[in-house]
Amino acid sequence: MPDQKSLEPTNAEAQSPASWSAPVFRDNVLGYVQDLMRNPENRVPPERVVLQLTQDPDFQTVLKSWESLNGADRVAAWKKVLALAEHHAREVLPACLMCGECCRMGSPTLHLEDLELLQKGAIPWEAVYTLRRGEPVHSPFKKDLFFLLDERIKVREKPGTTECLFLDGQTQRCRIYADRPLQCRAQACWDSAPAQDLSTQPYLTRRDIFKDVELVMDIMAEHDRRCRFDQLVAAFKEMEASKGATVDKVLHLLAYEEHFRTFMGEKLGIPDKELELVFGRSFVALLPLFGCAVKIEPDGTRVLVPDKGDTAGSSTS
Ligand code: SF4
Repeated sequence: MPDQKSLEPTNAEAQSPASWSAPVFRDNVLGYVQDLMRNPENRVPPERVVLQLTQDPDFQTVLKSWESLNGADRVAAWKKVLALAEHHAREVLPACLMCGECCRMGSPTLHLEDLELLQKGAIPWEAVYTLRRGEPVHSPFKKDLFFLLDERIKVREKPGTTECLFLDGQTQRCRIYADRPLQCRAQACWDSAPAQDLSTQPYLTRRDIFKDVELVMDIMAEHDRRCRFDQLVAAFKEMEASKGATVDKVLHLLAYEEHFRTFMGEKLGIPDKELELVFGRSFVALLPLFGCAVKIEPDGTRVLVPDKGDTAGSSTS
């Protein structure tokens, strides 16, 4: 009777596809895809490569028959799978496989056509926020800040990430896929033309949402007048030039903007989670763009401190 040791596969046998079970075969496919990603010429994201490969009929045939193949056929099938994986790592298939890659790069900006999704509750009001005209945002292509020429309304991103709020963390699928916004429906990682065509579609603005509520329109306009981003930017520049001597000007603007939104929000009965839709992001929320954060001292006074991480990194497209 052979001893236990002689039953264990040798290194050479374990490395040969001929000895792999179907689960080991699958693990090695995933490992090979990860290896392919180290080559900068392979530009298709790994999640998408795996989806393309596993939905490829040739791969499915190999997977289904793996256990019944003899050693020589397994080696031949493995070589075929390697070639398929290399092909899918280079070529994006012209179809949405719901790999979630676009959704991890940023949340959608809403168009007028998307208003219906908000009105029927497919997208909750608290899931969106406003980027006001003149607001400093990061360019998606460069580190520099730029200032928005027009207002935009966006779906929120998960805190501290660029990942869309509606991307399910476990399944990596969109939680509102059937009701996803226009930009998501037009987005195609294999063809930029449909997304470019969107430039002719009007963007959604707060006016489209609140035009029938005169009081809210008036208060929003007042907030836009009294709490302008150019004032905040100028105060930061002055503080830098004065080496911090004029920090109170920045703190005053922060406190005033905070007071305005809180006070008016209470007066108008706006839920806290919807304040960023009505008034946009607060000045305080934008501080990381200027490398700062607010710290509240034990006696209640507010001081500006260096920010430890950029948490206001919203970009827009
Ligand atoms: S709404 Fe859905 S499809 Fe659109 S970016 Fe978010 S998760 Fe992706």
